[in-house]
Amino acid sequence: DGIIWLDGELVPWREARVHVLTHTLHYGMGVFEGVRAYKTPRGTAIFRLQEHTERLFRSAHILNMTIPYDKETLNQVQRLVVRENGLETAYIRPMCFYGSEGMGLRADNLQVHVMLAAWSWGTYLGAENIERGIRVKTSSYTRHHVNITMCKAKANGNYLNSMLALQEALASGCDEALLLDTEGYVTEGSGENIFIIRNGVIYTPDLTSALEGITRDTIFQLAQEIGVPLREKRITRDEVYVADEAFFTGTAAEVTPIRELDGRRIGDGVRGPITERLQSLYFDQVHGRREA
Ligand code: PLP
Repeated sequence: DGIIWLDGELVPWREARVHVLTHTLHYGMGVFEGVRAYKTPRGTAIFRLQEHTERLFRSAHILNMTIPYDKETLNQVQRLVVRENGLETAYIRPMCFYGSEGMGLRADNLQVHVMLAAWSWGTYLGAENIERGIRVKTSSYTRHHVNITMCKAKANGNYLNSMLALQEALASGCDEALLLDTEGYVTEGSGENIFIIRNGVIYTPDLTSALEGITRDTIFQLAQEIGVPLREKRITRDEVYVADEAFFTGTAAEVTPIRELDGRRIGDGVRGPITERLQSLYFDQVHGRREA
């Protein structure tokens, strides 16, 4: 039930279908975004909409895919889809994909389709985990070269190792995976950027092999506001084990504390004070309770 925007039209959920010969279904080349809208004192507002749209276009640019709409149109459509579905809070999923106009690896002769869906989605990594923190497992899957050169793109085919990593983590009783790069340095979670805190300083991996997260960027702003130093650097898994605090960030995961990595307790094994402060500022910001 509800309404999806597909190629310029609002269609009922059940009718928003694609053909089995949809090119992106076969070869995985497509781009998408994950966006959230929150209830604020001035009504429902999409958090950092413009940045998400900009990243969608950057992702498409990396894949040499031409989106047949302009940014402002897609901004308006995201607001429209939230409104049409009567959502106060929403997760929004824009996606651009190649259709069933042809097979084979050539894509320049295919049509780029655009769809936008929105639904209500609660806490991504578990309601109680947002306070208690999650248990994470370092993955045997690495961010391989495709992801290293492609890490600026939120591209469909890029999520294979993220999904395998998550599968592995869940199978071992953990909540989320941590992926290393091919040299063994920490990169990010399956769909989150990572931060650690030690002796009052926040550290996060640089963007060599992690997605340019919009939530990550918001944390940079909030850390600066509260005067906690934040540095980008290469991080090893040992450094995560001995951190005082650690947390993941993402549009879906918001700010989720990490209480354990590979069976090692992080800090006191509970949400740390700086994490809690940043988390609370983040929620105030997305809910429009403070000035951005
Ligand atoms: N890293 C990956 C691989 C992701 O898929 C996401 C989700 O979008 C993130 C990090 C976090 O990015 P953002 O905060 O922009 O949602």
